[in-house]
Amino acid sequence: MSEIRKHYFLDEYCIIAPNRGFRPSDFKKTDEASNSKKCIFCKGNEEKTPPATAVYTPAGVTSDEGGVVRDWNVRCIPNMYPALSPKKSSSDQLAEGFGFHEVIIETPEHDYEPSMFLDEEITRLIRIYADRYTFYINKDGIKFVSLFKNYGSSAGASIAHSHSQLIALPLIPPIIKKEMETETCPFCDIIQRESISKRLILMQNDWIAFAPYFSKYPFEVWIMPKEHFPDMSKLSDVSGLAFMLRNVLSRMHALFGGFAYNYAFFQCTDKRYHFHLKVFPKLSVTGGFEENTNIYINPVSPEDAATQLRW
Ligand SMILES: [Zn+2]
Ligand SMILES: [Zn+2]
Repeated sequence: MSEIRKHYFLDEYCIIAPNRGFRPSDFKKTDEASNSKKCIFCKGNEEKTPPATAVYTPAGVTSDEGGVVRDWNVRCIPNMYPALSPKKSSSDQLAEGFGFHEVIIETPEHDYEPSMFLDEEITRLIRIYADRYTFYINKDGIKFVSLFKNYGSSAGASIAHSHSQLIALPLIPPIIKKEMETETCPFCDIIQRESISKRLILMQNDWIAFAPYFSKYPFEVWIMPKEHFPDMSKLSDVSGLAFMLRNVLSRMHALFGGFAYNYAFFQCTDKRYHFHLKVFPKLSVTGGFEENTNIYINPVSPEDAATQLRW
């Protein structure tokens, strides 16, 4: 039986339409043709990308400024086809498309990605995300930093080698502003509600992971700190968040095998905002109906998704 659900506090709807006998194995998997020889993100091919602006090595953080660094764990490079340009020549930042676009290569290995990462690798990655976020959000003219990952071509990745992206914007997206229009923090309320719901997946170290009541996509998961803080620059200890993300991704990996996915960090400098992370396995495709109505049809109820992700 289908159900039309309203968003927790926004004027948005989704349709939960579970199909009879629908299993995760029915979903499409990643079909990444692995070709590490030609891959510009692989270890040994560092010259094929622009020089790295930050290179995280076992000995600490450096850059390619003094020559290409080979011994790296994570490498940050300017996007070769940037959506925005760092040059700021006039006061009209929107008209000149001002901003920054960086690629974070998460591993030197080609067929390796965060849903397979060890604890220490996820922890390092989260620490680097916090680092890069803080670096860009403090830049003159930057008001918002979008930090996200596309993995697999059906999730929008044009390069198979696992990487994340950061786009720093001279404006705060309207949806983020809208989420701050309520009198009290709606996310603090959501945490109260979901921590005792059938949709709870995991709760530990002051973090919570759940399949949201309002789920646009099958197996969508939200990860939130119980403590209210606006962004990663305020995150001194990344271990709790790393634990949650690793658990959620590895559970998905166990359920789906290799799978395409996105995740994105929701944060801004305004103290009213409640930092969180959303994970979206790309298991279904959207089409004309969603474009037409902005109402998403989700074939898996979040209650069922949570049951399967709790294992
Ligand atoms: Zn590669
Ligand atoms: Zn809050």
